[in-house]
Amino acid sequence: MNNESILIVEDEEKIQRLLELELEYEGYQVVKASDGIEALEAYRSGKWDLILLDVMLPGLSGIELLRRIRAKDSYTPVILLTAKGSVEDKVSGLDLGANDYITKPFQIEELLARIRAVLRMRATAPAAEPEAEEWLTAGDLKLNEKTREVMRGEDEIELTPKEYDLLLYLLKNKRQVLNRDQILEAVWGYDYFGDTNIVDVYVRYVRKKLDYNYETPLIHTVRGVGYVLKDAK
Ligand code: CA
Repeated sequence: MNNESILIVEDEEKIQRLLELELEYEGYQVVKASDGIEALEAYRSGKWDLILLDVMLPGLSGIELLRRIRAKDSYTPVILLTAKGSVEDKVSGLDLGANDYITKPFQIEELLARIRAVLRMRATAPAAEPEAEEWLTAGDLKLNEKTREVMRGEDEIELTPKEYDLLLYLLKNKRQVLNRDQILEAVWGYDYFGDTNIVDVYVRYVRKKLDYNYETPLIHTVRGVGYVLKDAK
């Protein structure tokens, strides 16, 4: 007996009814939504082991709904129900983080097998502690890639987007000495035509916010080479 909860988002009544009957027969707990808006509300008000998501929906398309779900939740599995031949929907759906898709019309046995496979994969995925792993740290500095929060101890550090990108790069390569060209390429990209002075300028900006008011500086100049971010201890 399964007791996983599945949210069915489907506007065609016949298919919705079929899915409900079959899934309930298999022992899943099922809730239905018939349009995008209703689905978003249902998604937010419950905890789901899986979402079956029709792409062609009134209100809010399945793709848009998936985008909103994935903006905050990379964990809940989503299987898309797509119309035959809509390659674009499949591609953008998978790009947006759908776990699988099935093309209508489908055999219920195949869909059930895909649901089992996705649920199984999630069950064996590394322990669900996404929150804890999202912080990159060095000393009392921590940065959350998902929320873009940057903290030193209890203080929140406000960075501009470029300052953030620079700090993220230094932090991801902490304890490695990075030269100005490497930093320029990683943060500003190959097509940046300025000189590497911009790196020094931005390192100064970041230090001003991150280091100057704190006892232990984290960004260090390596003379003649570049910079390194490390916990001084
Ligand atoms: Ca539909």
